[in-house]
Amino acid sequence: MGSEQINYLRISVTDRCNLRCSYCRPDNIHFLPYDHFLRYEEIRDIVEVFAEYGLKKVRITGGEPLLRRDIHVLVGMISEIEGIKDISMTTNGILIPKYGKLLKERGLKRLNISLDSLREERFRKLTGGHLKDVLRGIDEAKRLGFDPIKINVVLIKDFNEDEVEDFILFGKKWDLHIRFIELMPVGFLEFFDHSKVVHLSEIKRRIEEKFGKLKPVSLISSGASRDYLIESLSVHVGFISPMSLPFCEGCKKLRLTSDGRLKFCLRGSDEINIKDILRKRGKEGLRNEMENILEMKRASNIKVAEKGFIFEETGKSMISIGG
Ligand code: SAM
Repeated sequence: MGSEQINYLRISVTDRCNLRCSYCRPDNIHFLPYDHFLRYEEIRDIVEVFAEYGLKKVRITGGEPLLRRDIHVLVGMISEIEGIKDISMTTNGILIPKYGKLLKERGLKRLNISLDSLREERFRKLTGGHLKDVLRGIDEAKRLGFDPIKINVVLIKDFNEDEVEDFILFGKKWDLHIRFIELMPVGFLEFFDHSKVVHLSEIKRRIEEKFGKLKPVSLISSGASRDYLIESLSVHVGFISPMSLPFCEGCKKLRLTSDGRLKFCLRGSDEINIKDILRKRGKEGLRNEMENILEMKRASNIKVAEKGFIFEETGKSMISIGG
C-alpha cells in the first residue's frame, strides 16, 4: 500500500526561535499559544501510524527545536518506533552545548546546523546573534560524535555569496559537510526579492574552478540535495536548488507543523489538520484517514508536475512551517 509514497517526515516542534534571520522570520509574526502545539505523545502516535505506511526517516526542526522543553524525550520516543531508521535534527546549534549529550543518549544521530556567514558582523546583522555561539555548538556536536554534521548555508546575493570558498575550507578544517541552499519565497511572495537568489549551478562551477573535480556521491538525505565529494580536499558539498532545479519528481516528503497541520509541499497551502483527527477520532481514526492522506500527497505531486514548483502566497514563513 502506501509504502511507496511517503518515507520522510519533517516535524516542527515549535515556532519560537532564539535567532531572527531576516529571510525566515517576518517582523509581524504571531506566535502560536503553547497549548496549540502537538504534545509529544501525539507526535509519537502520528509517527507510529505513518511508519506503518512506509515512513523511515524523521527530522526534527522548528523554529528552533532545542527551545522546546525536554526535546530529548521526543527524540527517545521516536527512535524507539519500529520502522524508523533515521532520526536527525536541524538546529542553529546555539543550545547544543546544553542539550547535545542528552540528544545523543536518546538516539539522535545526525545534525544539520544552519550557518549563513563565517563573519561575526554579517552573522549578527542577519540573525541578531553571535557567531561564536554557533561555532561553540558545532565544536560540541563534533566532540559528542554526531556524524555527519551538515552545515546549511542559504546563499544570498550581495550578502554572503563571496564566502563560498571560505565555507568549503571551513568544512575541510572542521570535517563538516557543507550544503548550499537557494533562498526561497516561502509564504510571502510580495516581499520576496528574486534578485537575491543565487543560482547554485554557478556556485558549483566556481567550486570546481577553485578546488577541482566534484564527484557525485549518494548520501543519506531527503533527496532534495545533490551531493558531491570535492576530491582534492575530501570535503562533501551539497546543493539544494529549489528555485533553479526543483527536485520534486516522486517526492515522498511530508511536513508536520508544530500545531499539527500536515503539509504536502513547501510550495503551497495544501494541508490537513492531523491534530483534529487525532484528538477527535484517536489513533485508529488517523489510521482510517491514511488512504485519504496518501491520495492528497499524490494529488500534490501531480499539481507540482503539471504547474511546476511555483510558490503560492500562504502568509506562512519558514519559521512557522518548519524549514
Ligand atoms: N532553527 C533551526 C535552524 O536554524 O536550522 C531550524 C529551523 S530553520 C527554519 C531551518 C532552515 O530553513 C535553516 O537552514 C534556514 O536557513 C532555512 N530557511 C528559512 N527560510 C528560508 C528561505 N526563505 N529559503 C531558504 N531556506 C530557508
